[in-house]
Amino acid sequence: MGKWLKIIVGVILGSAALFFFAGWQCLETRVLMYHSVKPHVNPKDKLAVSTRTFRQQMELLDAYHYSVIPLEALAMMLRDKRPIPPRAIAITFDDANEDTFLYAFPVLRAYDFAATVFVVTEYVSRPYKLTWEEIRRMQKSGLVSVGSHGITHSALKGIKSGEGLKREIADSKVILEKMLGTPVRLFSYPFGEYNARLKNMVKDAGYSAAVASRPWGSCVRDTYALGRFGIFEGSRTAFEVWLTIRELYIGVLEFFKTVKSRLKINACARRAFYAGGFAFHVG
Ligand SMILES: [Zn+2]
Repeated sequence: MGKWLKIIVGVILGSAALFFFAGWQCLETRVLMYHSVKPHVNPKDKLAVSTRTFRQQMELLDAYHYSVIPLEALAMMLRDKRPIPPRAIAITFDDANEDTFLYAFPVLRAYDFAATVFVVTEYVSRPYKLTWEEIRRMQKSGLVSVGSHGITHSALKGIKSGEGLKREIADSKVILEKMLGTPVRLFSYPFGEYNARLKNMVKDAGYSAAVASRPWGSCVRDTYALGRFGIFEGSRTAFEVWLTIRELYIGVLEFFKTVKSRLKINACARRAFYAGGFAFHVG
């Protein structure tokens, strides 16, 4: 094999492997993680996106015909290994910032997109944080569901006592359910920190799914550590690139699916033809 041919074959195989790896680790991620949506983003505020960027991103999801579904519905499809539409995606907000209600919620309503807001119970009604009334109003719209993000937003791996962990994980659920009058079944690990012990505690507390904070830091199909794609103003181009590559990925998958079903149809037609011929001779 010539030198250049080897290089070309190597590049093709390498790209295919990378594509497959990226597809599995990143493109399969179907949960978006936002923290803060503001009209003007201070460059020092690494967690926020501008209202304009947020609206553009929702517009893009709409243009690509994404089904924005509740996180719990998506998690249950993953848990039960049911087929998930390739363009099904879930949106989440952490930390219960008031701007979620002021700037993100009206955009979600305009597109009729579902979202989950993860609330830190002790943050509620603090300056720039959501009030119970705002949380209830979002919930009443039918678009927003509420999950727990702990009581104090402490890194759970740093809490050694079982009592302390139970307070953050189980008691936060009880508080939210009491204040909102609806079951709370989703948990978001503060700082995305989790391990096997924490996952078990979340499960035992009665949650049906939990989210981590990095797409590659966890198995995306683990319903108690779902990977998420974090979206911030500084990485808004990454979102567009990710969505474009994802579209290509879906396109390739759909192409192979069509080829496969065509081959099946052809095989069926061949079988029907021979069976017909045989019947004719016998008759
Ligand atoms: Zn947080």
